[in-house]
Amino acid sequence: MKTIGLLGGMSWESTTLYYQLINQSIKRRLGGLHSARVALVSVDFQDVETLQHQNRWDEAGELLARAAVQVQAAGADGLLICTNTMHKVAPAVEAAIDIPLLHVVDATAAQARDRGHQRLGLLGTRFTMEQPFYRDRFTERYGIDMLVPDLAEREEVHRIIYEELCLGTISEASRARMLEIIDGLMAAGAEAIVEGCTEIGMLVGEQHTQAPLYDTTAVHAEAAVTWALAP
Ligand code: GLU
Repeated sequence: MKTIGLLGGMSWESTTLYYQLINQSIKRRLGGLHSARVALVSVDFQDVETLQHQNRWDEAGELLARAAVQVQAAGADGLLICTNTMHKVAPAVEAAIDIPLLHVVDATAAQARDRGHQRLGLLGTRFTMEQPFYRDRFTERYGIDMLVPDLAEREEVHRIIYEELCLGTISEASRARMLEIIDGLMAAGAEAIVEGCTEIGMLVGEQHTQAPLYDTTAVHAEAAVTWALAP
């Protein structure tokens, strides 16, 4: 079994999910007392959030690159960045390490392709919904069209992520709002919804909607286990 490297803390609420999901999957697949080999470095999300919102992405990239080097030094064979948004600086992270980066879009798009979904609605931070680093990878590498909510809805999803979910707050009103936004994306032609933020699955799961969901936390964690167990 390979050692899965986790670059976490963004937020720690979702990093705990990665750790749980990866271990649950190893237990399911290998049985007995098996658990995952994991090397985790967890950053202070306040630092990262400040750099994001001040548009200081180069510094954010340097911060994550330094943390990724620590993950590699701790014995990881491959790396997951446990946030969709910070894949914006994936090139800086990849350049700093010798181990492979398991990209969240590649894991999600591969599953969408297997299920025949070609048009996906995207929920995430405004950075993820609006900037090319995330959407373009789906479209250019996998031929998948991405739909995003309108501006007011994007602002609302962004607010829910930073002011509630990253602090562990689950609100019924926000769930209802998120479900309305999902319904709007499906009505606009989405075949499924990418929960492109690692905390959104805490708020909306398959029990809440008929829309097919790609919870990127679960998809990314499962892809990591498949990779870790491959010969
Ligand atoms: N965890 C979230 C994501 O997947 C948001 C936190 C962040 O900005 O990294 O995008």
